[in-house]
Amino acid sequence: MKQDDQVTLQTVAEPADLVLKKPSRKAKSASAASARAGANQPNSQTTEQRGRSTTMPGRVYDTIIIGAGISGLAAAYKLNQAGYQDYLVLEKAGRVGGTWRDNTYPGCGCDVPSALYSFSFAPSHGWSHLFAKQPEILRYLEDVATRFQLYAKIEFHNELQDARWNETEQMWGLNTSKGRYRARTVIFSTGPITEPQLPKIKGIDSFKGEMFHSARWNHAYDLRGKRIAVIGTGASAIQFIPKIQPLAKELYIFQRTAPWVLPKPDLPLNQMMKSTLAKFPVIQQRWRGAVSQSLNLINFGLRHPPLLEPVNVLSRQLLKLQVKDPALRQAVTPQFFGRL
Ligand SMILES: Cc1cc2nc3c(=O)[nH]c(=O)nc-3n(C[C@H](O)[C@H](O)[C@H](O)COP(=O)(O)OP(=O)(O)OC[C@H]3O[C@@H](n4cnc5c(N)ncnc54)[C@H](O)[C@@H]3O)c2cc1C
Repeated sequence: MKQDDQVTLQTVAEPADLVLKKPSRKAKSASAASARAGANQPNSQTTEQRGRSTTMPGRVYDTIIIGAGISGLAAAYKLNQAGYQDYLVLEKAGRVGGTWRDNTYPGCGCDVPSALYSFSFAPSHGWSHLFAKQPEILRYLEDVATRFQLYAKIEFHNELQDARWNETEQMWGLNTSKGRYRARTVIFSTGPITEPQLPKIKGIDSFKGEMFHSARWNHAYDLRGKRIAVIGTGASAIQFIPKIQPLAKELYIFQRTAPWVLPKPDLPLNQMMKSTLAKFPVIQQRWRGAVSQSLNLINFGLRHPPLLEPVNVLSRQLLKLQVKDPALRQAVTPQFFGRL
């Protein structure tokens, strides 16, 4: 990287190497103290509420992690696990969770079974369904942050504004909403889709009706009896459209690209199943391994589309059963990864 190369936020920066060094005894005891200070804190407490000083402009850290979503929490856990304590997590919001804090639309949940969509170091047997819903994923992430004393390392409401690598000092200089920091290593865990994007539609600025992005759902707005237009047919729309359709007077869906929609085998997990998973963790480990292998197979198929042809045939048969009108069926049949 050249001297004074600047990282523009919202793009994933070239990841700096994570160099782990053995912590000194002093660092270890300092970390234990800060970990104790962070334990038993309510999940949504901010740094200021916990009484820590805000920023120490220009203070040098070995590592600064930007973002306290899933990736940032995992990075912090791994640093702790390696006994490495000279690090800080900067989070622009007031709560951990990232995606799962910001997306609260009806029906929001993950599309990967939770046995896999969870940390390997913190398996949970409390999921309500095979595919967990947003509120429980957020609770899980907050619980992980508490259990592993990660709150002690997070500065909330502290937004990175720019990051510049200084070749001479071999150091990152970071400007944040709370001051200036320096770090030998920066881990950008800012997420791929943090900021909602409104489509560039002519007239959108002068639209007088209620309008919001699914990632910033307006729960105060009553959709009952309304004429609603949904723009987009991606993973979020697939989750919330069935929830709002019964409320709407009229519902229009604007689609640019038809997605493949397959049945989701989302079974509820009752108390007996949860207790069994708690008693025999090996079941969840095996389930996690199996899901991981099938996703690897799907990824392989995405790179070699002819292999996905049987799935395409199945999906087209399903569409024939679900959509009787041939013109509509043609319109909602994806044009990628397979023939029509
Ligand atoms: C509705 C929805 C469902 C999804 N379902 C799945 C799924 O089933 N499976 C799957 O694999 N993926 C899914 N994803 C993708 C999901 O984004 C990732 O799985 C994962 O949550 C990303 O975590 P992250 O920590 O990398 O980023 P984020 O969760 O985006 O977290 C980034 C964090 O960085 C903070 N931040 C950003 N910029 C700054 C800055 N400049 N300064 C300080 N802090 C900053 C943000 O506030 C945020 O807390 C889904 C996404 C959405 C929106």
